[in-house]
Amino acid sequence: MKWPCALLLVTSLTLPAVAAEVACPLGDEGRLVQSERSWNLGGGVDSDGCAYGIDAKGGRRVLGLDVVSRCTRCRGTFLTRGVGGPLPAFKAGAPAGVQDEVKALVVAFRKERSINTRDFLSQSEQFELAGRIYNALGARLGLSKGDRRALVGRLYLRAAWGARGAAVLQGPDAGFRPRSMREVGEHLAILAARHDADPAAEPSVRVIDRSLEDLGVARRALAARMRGASPAERFAHLAARAALDRLERDLYQRKAQRLAELTRQQPLGRRELGLARLRAWIRTGDFRRANEGLAAFKGDVIRRSMATWVAEERRLLGLAEAELRAAGELEKDPRRAGLLVFLAGDSARRQGKSSLARALLDKARQLAPQDEAGRRAALLLGQ
Ligand SMILES: [Zn+2]
Repeated sequence: MKWPCALLLVTSLTLPAVAAEVACPLGDEGRLVQSERSWNLGGGVDSDGCAYGIDAKGGRRVLGLDVVSRCTRCRGTFLTRGVGGPLPAFKAGAPAGVQDEVKALVVAFRKERSINTRDFLSQSEQFELAGRIYNALGARLGLSKGDRRALVGRLYLRAAWGARGAAVLQGPDAGFRPRSMREVGEHLAILAARHDADPAAEPSVRVIDRSLEDLGVARRALAARMRGASPAERFAHLAARAALDRLERDLYQRKAQRLAELTRQQPLGRRELGLARLRAWIRTGDFRRANEGLAAFKGDVIRRSMATWVAEERRLLGLAEAELRAAGELEKDPRRAGLLVFLAGDSARRQGKSSLARALLDKARQLAPQDEAGRRAALLLGQ
């Protein structure tokens, strides 16, 4: 089956952003970088909405991790776009004392993690710190208790995605794009049965690459025309840019498919096969098999680093689960509650809390049976 729920869960990732610097919400004259990066779902989407884009070289990255940015002044981390709702902001400027409060949170977080003042935070750490900051500021940002917990839960969930990405995107990638447990099985069968690559298959990727290069030229030309354009011309240019974005996404999807096909034809060693399987289980969130896979790679350098990130992912999923569960209980709208409870349930499943996961997924299915979250809950329960 297709993965319709992926679209619902990643909607918040796909809003167009404008490359710019925005002011820190604390009004301390610090700036946040609001990045604009092209996106595509060429690397697949995990059950909890963690989506992967591919770049021109076939490399992958987790999407939606560029919506939090560090302030140049207070060094707090804040959202530059909303996640699952509007961007929270103070109605009439930041209240007195808030700047000191955030500074204290930043200092405490760095101390707890033994991160020097000059060192940068990882994406995962940026989201965890943002979760703490929005948790502390909640009511003053005009958020209800339920909305605050939903937002903080989503921030912790993305922190967990950052850790998962760090675990699965290292080393040679096997091009795994899981959409169901059946596909996981098929993927593993394909991995085991790989044979020599067909050299004639290579050029099709180069054709796509050339189209992507042409697209880059068109994009730069459009950007040049945007400067000094009248509002009416600008509107037309923006429409043209949206068309280029769609074309680019399509090309990347095709490239991802082609690379996956080529990957299937390449020979695979015993260690690579084991690592590819391990990545598959981590992305699928199969707690037991991921643990077995990690245990099987004793002494392997990549495995040691993967195990550290997987432990970090599970810790962060624990934080996300607690917030999302509480938010789901406070949410009156059954469809929104269904999505929050689903995300809590999937976070529980990925931590190996199987009976809690079952109860939460079952509740999500009852709350929003027609929604993507409800359908995906049913899918996970059926396995
Ligand atoms: Zn600031």
